[in-house]
Amino acid sequence: MIIQRVVLNSRPGKNGVPVAENFRLEQSTIADTVQAGHVLVKTLYLSVDPYMRCRMNEDTGSDYLRPWQLSEVADGGGIGVVEESKHHNLAKGDFVTSFTWPWQTSAILDGDSLQKLVPQLVNGRLSYFLGAAGITGLTALLGIREKGHVAAGANQTMVVSGAAGACGSLAGQIGRLEGCSRVVGIAGTDEKCSILVQEMGFDAAINYKKGDVAKQLRELCPGGVDVYFDNVGGDISDTVISQMNQNSHIILCGQISQYNKDVPYPPPLPPDIEKIQKERNITRERFLVLNYMDKQEASVLQLCQWIQEGKLKVRETVVEGLANIGAAFQSMMNGGNIGKQIVSVSE
Ligand code: NAP
Repeated sequence: MIIQRVVLNSRPGKNGVPVAENFRLEQSTIADTVQAGHVLVKTLYLSVDPYMRCRMNEDTGSDYLRPWQLSEVADGGGIGVVEESKHHNLAKGDFVTSFTWPWQTSAILDGDSLQKLVPQLVNGRLSYFLGAAGITGLTALLGIREKGHVAAGANQTMVVSGAAGACGSLAGQIGRLEGCSRVVGIAGTDEKCSILVQEMGFDAAINYKKGDVAKQLRELCPGGVDVYFDNVGGDISDTVISQMNQNSHIILCGQISQYNKDVPYPPPLPPDIEKIQKERNITRERFLVLNYMDKQEASVLQLCQWIQEGKLKVRETVVEGLANIGAAFQSMMNGGNIGKQIVSVSE
């Protein structure tokens, strides 16, 4: 069977900025017959995520991420529909997902590697299982629950960086649902800031590309910052940490501003900021959602319930066509997305 697939065409280099041309669309073939225990799936949606930047390096710098190999098909979170099944638990027409879905139009996959999806849980919006009701939502929810120390009635102020992105836009809303009394976002455009406030219930948002972030933060968080959901690291995080309260908490979700640099993860704080962190007893523990998968089922149900009740507003930026996945990745890394970046695939 003839398929289209996307392979890694070249590496950007550890300190390089990734571009769409690092990926290549090509025609390939898969077997015509499905072996026992396997299924033929048609790809519907693929996820592009910042962690993939590490997979573009020869050495990902982490033990849980495998590098993509040159001229081999890339993979990541994906959703598809079963077209033929030789697996006891899967039938034609089932919707399924995996974290290691190949970037190709159709594939034969081991049925045991797939999770069945229930579209009704997300009002039929299947792609949400890659975002708000998938790993992104889990990251926001479990990051807050495991590392945020949020307590209802404690009058806490939360700041979220990368706030209009996939994790950030959910994290601010979940921070509020879990009990924070004030939520302030930091994002890269006025449009993103306005969506955060008008649609997603943030109290305020700062465009970090305009004006003095430290001054705006002081004005918007007069009682200081109690919980910081950090997606970006670098200068923005140094500014936020400087305004954090005694015994406050950083949720170390990601450090996207550092991903095109050859630095260890998590990148060390500059000495003056580290001094503040230590003196004020600010926690900054590493958080990796994959370490909490025992809480996946209950947490996904919580996220789906909030989505159904309209308590969690979801934004997606959907790019059409497998051929555009490299461009979608490049755009997301440069701030072109609002909410979760999804690629919709059709043959
Ligand atoms: P995302 O926020 O939807 O997309 C990345 C966004 O980051 C861009 O849209 C851009 O928005 C912003 N950005 C890019 N370069 C920046 C820079 N130099 N400074 C400030 N902002 C920058 O991606 P996501 O999937 O939600 O991931 C967010 C973070 O969470 C990433 O660091 C990711 O690695 C991490 N993550 C961690 C876990 C975990 O288990 N710990 C799981 C999933 C994701 P602007 O327009 O605002 O610049």
